[in-house]
Amino acid sequence: MSRFLSKKYATLTPYVPGEQPRDMKYVKLNTNESPFPPSPRVVAAAEQEANRLNLYSDPECTELKRAAAELYGVEPKHVLPVNGSDEILYFAFLAYGDDQNPFAFADISYGFYPVYARFCDVPSREIPLKDDFSLDYRDYLGIREHILIANPNAPTGTTLPLWQIEEIVGSNPDRVVIIDEAYIDFGGESCVPLIHKYDNLLVVQTFSKSRSLAGARLGFGIGSEQLIRDLNTVKYSINPYNVNRMTQAAGVAAIEDDDYYRANAETIMTIRAEATEQLQSLGFTVLPSCANFVFAKSGSVSGEELYQKLKARGVLVRHFTKERIKDYCRITIGTREQMQTLMTNIQSILAEKG
Ligand code: PMP
Repeated sequence: MSRFLSKKYATLTPYVPGEQPRDMKYVKLNTNESPFPPSPRVVAAAEQEANRLNLYSDPECTELKRAAAELYGVEPKHVLPVNGSDEILYFAFLAYGDDQNPFAFADISYGFYPVYARFCDVPSREIPLKDDFSLDYRDYLGIREHILIANPNAPTGTTLPLWQIEEIVGSNPDRVVIIDEAYIDFGGESCVPLIHKYDNLLVVQTFSKSRSLAGARLGFGIGSEQLIRDLNTVKYSINPYNVNRMTQAAGVAAIEDDDYYRANAETIMTIRAEATEQLQSLGFTVLPSCANFVFAKSGSVSGEELYQKLKARGVLVRHFTKERIKDYCRITIGTREQMQTLMTNIQSILAEKG
């Protein structure tokens, strides 16, 4: 830390992103990216737009907003495109959080939530998941905080039915309820249609997972006109050109190529079922997942050891040191070949243990 850093950041613990190593070629199952490349139409659209990179991007993302509104069954005024869904989360903490308006989220969820809370100086309360890592929606009915829930949750992969989300939103009319649907395309039920009924609901989506655009950084906030207006006030006070030209073009093309992504999501769900069975047959406990990853614990190797030994063999998975989940690894669902490599290596690690 330099002697110039503001005191308010001196004790900050930043978010630690999953490893993106360059030292060797890994089977990369650690950051929930899609194993499939963007569709050829998306690549062509981005390439074409590269010729216009001398010009600023459209700050309103007009075309992209129109396409996304159609995709989500809402009007463009209900949509805010952002530079990865992390950005809309950041905007929401800035827009709605302060001393009088704390946030609540689960103790085991996306690790960025507490980081943003601290960075934005917003008090927060962590609500423990149940022993089986399920979220009890009743813990969130009529509470005093704004609410942030990942559905499906990360890193557990478990999901809430739509009626429970609606109960939470309906019972907190004076609180903003943010539902982070980063993994919704892998088997969950989206609550986007509820934005027409509840003006306190903000839905967060991303093109990083099911749409193979993690590197393009594209996410969306979807909510009532008033919520989107608030978030735009924050956006235009920070970075009006937040979504670059190539990403806007890629996003439109990705929406037009919806079938390609739906088919890939189906494939991932099939491979997830196969991987779950294989892991179980190797003695793992695997939480039921509606995401493009599984959260699994071996009966004989610790989470840390499995992570380290897989890494040494060229397979990257994600391990968290938090006490409640330190026995687990989060494994992104890759291609069949990638999962085969994973299983072969797990078998050899288990065999070594005897
Ligand atoms: N929400 C959840 C639950 C996530 O796991 C992630 C990915 N790490 C994000 C949001 C952010 O994704 P992105 O910024 O790539 O859209």
